[in-house]
Amino acid sequence: MNEAKYIWMDGEFVEWKDAKVHILTHTLHYGNGIFEGTKAYRTHDGRCAIFRLDEHTKRLYNSAKMLLLDIPFSIEEMKKAQVELLQKNELFNGAYIRPLVYLGYGVMGIYHKKCPVNASIAAWEWGAYLGEEGMKNGVRVKISSFNKPSNNSTMGKAKASANYLNSQMAKFEAVEAGYDEALLKDTDGYIAEASGECLFIIRDGVVITPPNDNSLESITQATVIELAKDLGYEVVRKRVTREEIYIADEAFFTGTAAEVTPIRDVDSRIIGCGSRGPITEKLQSAYFDVVQGKNEKYTKYLTYIN
Ligand code: PMP
Repeated sequence: MNEAKYIWMDGEFVEWKDAKVHILTHTLHYGNGIFEGTKAYRTHDGRCAIFRLDEHTKRLYNSAKMLLLDIPFSIEEMKKAQVELLQKNELFNGAYIRPLVYLGYGVMGIYHKKCPVNASIAAWEWGAYLGEEGMKNGVRVKISSFNKPSNNSTMGKAKASANYLNSQMAKFEAVEAGYDEALLKDTDGYIAEASGECLFIIRDGVVITPPNDNSLESITQATVIELAKDLGYEVVRKRVTREEIYIADEAFFTGTAAEVTPIRDVDSRIIGCGSRGPITEKLQSAYFDVVQGKNEKYTKYLTYIN
């Protein structure tokens, strides 16, 4: 991994190698932690900006509220810490930013409200999540044998560490079977999301993406919906079944780390041309224009760090 110099821990900048926790850290045992994945990009004018810092930080606080974690810092403090961390690490060519809020050391047992809440932020350079080749030619996807847990059992809208156990199992299953990524259905059999991305399909020029009935409220999905509308496409949010994906003209993933990644086949059914489709390419390029500050309309989403 691309180590940086410092990690922010509870208000202090700690050297990367010293950013450690006790083995009895509550979250390590019982899984109640929440995190964010935010990205900063080098902009076209040679500066660097964090993309949608406000929305990611707000979602961190929303996740904390859902899981009864009282973050001992204000939203403003957490935003400032993310900016300062990139500056201190001189990550001016862009970085992935990982705030994590976790239950710390001092109390064991499942009841968690007496446990101290700790916050940390790490940032490092991280390339294309699903690979450079995938960004260009598309990735191979398997519909998972793992479902998203029902809305009655876990809180899928929280970006909770515990939710990623299910994602991890689905991802492993897909990779072992020779695919790049897994798509998970909800308990009604509709596609909810991938292990760490949202799904879009294109049929007859219409851009379709599932609602967030049983998935994270994705910030990249919301951005791509805006961009698709700007480009004049009809955007429909509706539940989709696996066979609708098989016969789609194009399909792609969105996510902070995955950005806009084309899908070239699903369960060995070739999607469209079997590579990056034309609408996907337009949306991918529009997305990179936005994060790199080339689209005036969306500079409102950028927090420049230099
Ligand atoms: N679903 C899951 C399960 C994810 O982990 C992610 C990545 N954060 C997404 C969707 C996409 O969300 P976002 O666009 O906000 O990164």
